[in-house]
Amino acid sequence: MRAATGIAEVRAILAGVDRPLGFVPTMGALHAGHVFLVSAARAQCATIAASVYVNPLQFGPGEDFERYPRDDEGDRARLKEAGVDVLFTPETQTMRPAGFSTFVDVGKIATTYEGASRPAHFRGVATVVAKLLGIMQPDALYLGQKDAQQTAVVRKMVRDLDLGPQVRIVPTVREPDGLALSSRNAYLSSEERAAAPTLHAALERLRDLLQRGVPKETAIVQARRVLSERAQLEYLDVVDADDFEPLDRLRGNAFVIGAARFGKTRLLDNLWIH
Ligand code: AMP
Repeated sequence: MRAATGIAEVRAILAGVDRPLGFVPTMGALHAGHVFLVSAARAQCATIAASVYVNPLQFGPGEDFERYPRDDEGDRARLKEAGVDVLFTPETQTMRPAGFSTFVDVGKIATTYEGASRPAHFRGVATVVAKLLGIMQPDALYLGQKDAQQTAVVRKMVRDLDLGPQVRIVPTVREPDGLALSSRNAYLSSEERAAAPTLHAALERLRDLLQRGVPKETAIVQARRVLSERAQLEYLDVVDADDFEPLDRLRGNAFVIGAARFGKTRLLDNLWIH
């Protein structure tokens, strides 16, 4: 695995690699979900590049940027073992040098659900992903289904701006009890960890009720009952997978989505109905 922190350095490495080039952007603190993204890319691309960059632009004031888990050595070892060929680990002054002032605004899709709860989040995600795509110039971009609204935002940006790569969505890796793997699971106390899989269970209940034709409002009320008392629900809904507009009933190409706080930790999850 070759590693670079500078833009000229990583471009020089990428200029000589076999195509297609698959790219897996991450914020580090890597787990089996990230490794699965790399494996998916490995199966389809001649060369795999990954980045580790904790993007300050996508954290709001008072969010967990400062305490976001960091494990540079562990990440490097995991990516190497997973089969990454090129690792890009830029510094913030590289991604956002003095005078940087251009931002990507994808419009309404960035203002609902995660965007309502975290107003500048998707602007930060879209801006950094656009910059990373400009640097890496991949043929395929690999994103986890776990962050469903992020997949819709990035696909829209890539389409609207003709940024080039195919965007490929990789299924969510879960713990045996259903909890979606997340770098933030490390924050959970043992009681919160025990309660956290009820978010996934509530999504499954909501999906099942909708599939049986139960009206959405009733189905949401019933699905909420599956959640642990420790969960503070932010939203449960069913949305179109492309534009994230709410749907009245379940159909193909939809996400059943949810977000809840367990103590101070905010978790999100979804089911993809193809
Ligand atoms: P992050 O480091 O949390 O920004 O995530 C980097 C990429 O890994 C994103 O595309 C995420 O959607 C994806 N990812 C995060 N958790 C999982 C998971 N449990 N299964 C599959 N992919 C995931």
